[in-house]
Amino acid sequence: METSYISAFPGIGTTRIFVGNDGNVYEAIGGSRAWRNNNPGNLEDGKFARDNGAIGSDGRFAIFPDTATGFNAMVNLLSTNAYQKLTVEGTINRYAPPSENKVENYLQSIERQTGFPRSTPMNNLSKDNLLQLAKAIAKHEGNIPGKKRLVPKNETYVWVTVGDDKVRPEHEVLDGKIRTWYDTPRPKEEYGCRCHAESVK
Ligand SMILES: [Zn+2]
Repeated sequence: METSYISAFPGIGTTRIFVGNDGNVYEAIGGSRAWRNNNPGNLEDGKFARDNGAIGSDGRFAIFPDTATGFNAMVNLLSTNAYQKLTVEGTINRYAPPSENKVENYLQSIERQTGFPRSTPMNNLSKDNLLQLAKAIAKHEGNIPGKKRLVPKNETYVWVTVGDDKVRPEHEVLDGKIRTWYDTPRPKEEYGCRCHAESVK
């Protein structure tokens, strides 16, 4: 059975933890933030990202279960009216505000990679064209792979609360969730915490 990843969160340092529906856990280590998050367009977490398959947040950006889902979210974003009414140039200006990026370099890179002149109306582009544009944006944003590691079962556990009304809300949301021992907090670590760890089946 192919593992399907159902939740993800930041681990220690530059890592992300991905939890599968079958109890498999892997860790994405190093590389660029876009790579670790499977989020080639650096989409911020929020309703749009969640509606498009995001399974977690790194505090600002969405974490997707895989790169294909991340690209699909990007294409869907570029298909919204906010972008469809613009040109390619307008899209780059909106996507990457001039204060954050050198726009002329960015535009030349996009034109070179896609062959779409900057004056191209977005609504002239097909879904496939939008994917080409998304890939060009992702390349310009810099998608540097790191390493992936399957996390051994003895490094993971299930967070279990006592289930009464005194459980603190931050722990209530962790009830039944698979964690690694590298994630903080750990059960009983915080003052007065009555939660405990059970092994992953
Ligand atoms: Zn607790």
